[in-house]
Amino acid sequence: MSGGGFLESVNQNFRKAASYTNLPSGLLAQIEACNSVYQMRFPVKIGNEYEVIEAYRVQHSHHRLPTKGGIRYSMSVNQEEVMALASLMSYKCAIVDVPFGGAKGGVKIDPRNYTTRQLQKITRRYTTELIRKNFIGPGIDVPAPDYGTGGREMAWILDTYLTFKNGELDGAGCVTGKPVKQNGIKGRTEATGRGVFYGVREACEHAEDMKALGLTPGIAGKTMIVQGLGNVGAHTAMISQDEGGVIIVGVAEYEGSIYNKDGIDIHALLKHRKETGSILDFPGAKNLKDRNSVLESPCDILIPAALENQITMSNVKKIKAKIIGEAANGPVTADAHQVLVDKGVMVIPDMYINAGGVTVSYFEWLKNLSHMRFGRMEKRFNQQTYGNLIDLIERTTGKSVNKREKAFIGRGADEIDLVRSGLEETMVTAYDDIRTTMKRSKRIPDLRSAAFVSAIKKISSDYISLGIFP
Ligand code: GLU
Repeated sequence: MSGGGFLESVNQNFRKAASYTNLPSGLLAQIEACNSVYQMRFPVKIGNEYEVIEAYRVQHSHHRLPTKGGIRYSMSVNQEEVMALASLMSYKCAIVDVPFGGAKGGVKIDPRNYTTRQLQKITRRYTTELIRKNFIGPGIDVPAPDYGTGGREMAWILDTYLTFKNGELDGAGCVTGKPVKQNGIKGRTEATGRGVFYGVREACEHAEDMKALGLTPGIAGKTMIVQGLGNVGAHTAMISQDEGGVIIVGVAEYEGSIYNKDGIDIHALLKHRKETGSILDFPGAKNLKDRNSVLESPCDILIPAALENQITMSNVKKIKAKIIGEAANGPVTADAHQVLVDKGVMVIPDMYINAGGVTVSYFEWLKNLSHMRFGRMEKRFNQQTYGNLIDLIERTTGKSVNKREKAFIGRGADEIDLVRSGLEETMVTAYDDIRTTMKRSKRIPDLRSAAFVSAIKKISSDYISLGIFP
């Protein structure tokens, strides 16, 4: 499906949800529309030739500033795909109460075809174009990693920005997802995957919902299939296995897919892939005929963590999962989603379940504006206070707390503890908000529509209180 199909799919979902609100059509049209679309072409010298690179930055909604969203490097980038992804960012931020408008960037390249130096040249030139048109800045528009980019590219963007904006006090907040040593924050790399885990775990906590799916409550012991072992898929699988007691039974990657009903140790699989360059031929697992066949294998939870349009009308009937957590953006098309909902499958929508990345980006941006890491002021003070409390308990009870317990209870929070705590709170609260929206209304048929309704209500209330709409 082209980017146009993806944008149409997002907007179709939006309009379906909008029908459950009583908002005026003009206001809904304003929320749906992409506010600014910047399409650019710039030349970069690659070897002895000049290549003209096609790139985009779309700011979907300015109801809150800055706008926020990743930059994707992929050959499938086109204007409508970036518009669809920027739209999802606005709804995503609203759902998890991250006070930004949505944006997205895309550069139409296959990063595997370029050397590191060439990628740096392209990234710096792209950033320069954004600066030139005032499409980047800590209070304007703040990019982050997405498919095909990571901390390395974000550091190049930061350096380019600071070169042009020398002395700008909050300049480090012009981009997030930076390496920790380059004004980044601990826990950003794992954040999307960790957020997926918290979200799915929370969904599994509701006994009534699990019963309707024929499942027992609790995430422990549930089987999971993951499509894509990139940053998001790998962290989702690792954290679900290690912290949630989930059994990973299937994995799909570029080179093919594997299945083992008794479980695949994700750490051993990642090591195997590093050593052999492939997930195939992993001891104990069956190689499947092609990379997407594993999506159709039996499991409780399916995590598509690759790209958009993976579950479509052509394979939806064969999906056996009871819960689908959309770790990627737009992995299920609107028509296929309807089929799943009719079948009683629980689809936890992308704009909620993968919002952990932007949530921790928000924490990083706050850290940059405060010029101080979280926990620096209070860690020792708290440690001292907890220590005094333990002493008091020991003195009054006459019993002693052992050394290990003392160290555990008496510890002050580090940056990573605070980031994880903030992320967990965000994901749990947002899930309960979406679920309550759905249950209360009695008309809203699925979690995606409920998530949209929640986002639309928040964005519309901004427009109304700003006086833009009466
Ligand atoms: N690219 C990620 C997303 O789609 C993260 C965006 C951000 O951190 O701004 O949500």
